[in-house]
Amino acid sequence: MVLLLFGPPGCGKGTQARLISNSLKIPSISTGEMLRAEMQAGTELGRMAQSIMASGGLVGDDIVNTMLAARISRPDCSAGFLLDGYPRTVEQAVFLDGLLRRSGFPPAIILHLDVPTDALVGRMTSRRQCPQCKRIYNLLHEPPKSPGVCDDDGAALFTRKDDREEVFRERLRTYDNLTQPVLAHYQDQEYYQIRGDRSPAYIFEEITGVLERRVERPVEQASRPVSEPLTC
Ligand code: AMP
Repeated sequence: MVLLLFGPPGCGKGTQARLISNSLKIPSISTGEMLRAEMQAGTELGRMAQSIMASGGLVGDDIVNTMLAARISRPDCSAGFLLDGYPRTVEQAVFLDGLLRRSGFPPAIILHLDVPTDALVGRMTSRRQCPQCKRIYNLLHEPPKSPGVCDDDGAALFTRKDDREEVFRERLRTYDNLTQPVLAHYQDQEYYQIRGDRSPAYIFEEITGVLERRVERPVEQASRPVSEPLTC
């Protein structure tokens, strides 16, 4: 199963990706995390991506496509995987379609988390991340057990640079401009729109329900066009 998780920055994609990955036992691949890892490691790719990411823009398709193709060719992806933050452009979506076909994967299933902008801005100011295991917390919905400290490894949580408000608003604008054509690209594929302005546990329950129901139904019946969202 190949899942594409869409949603604006700060919508809780990272949390849902982790929950889905644990539940389906498939890797969750975030191109944002991969790029941040490159930056931290000080690689040439990381240096190229750094200024673009800091300004809220998108890293070039060629760079991200090459990075993604290498990642999904690894053995842990053989039974499927979930992509978080990719594809971000129609060019990436076209590239991914071809890559999936050539690699013998089924067409991707699209999960779209939809959250109003006002709710997003509020959420972002309360987002924290663990520098070690990359887990994302939200002080409102998913706080750590001890303030400022990761539940899993005890590392001090931090606020990501690209979560600063002006950078965040630029990311939202970029997201809006670029995502609509990408979602339109997938209108003939399995597409599920899920309200993301609720608790992570509630959202996850709905995603699980959607995926379970689709296993019980033929693919054609489970499909929804992008213009007729399935709000679960
Ligand atoms: P994210 O963690 O997914 O919000 O990504 C953080 C930043 O990494 C984005 O604002 C982009 O600058 C870059 N990035 C992540 N994924 C992609 C992608 N698929 N295409 C281009 N840039 C990306």
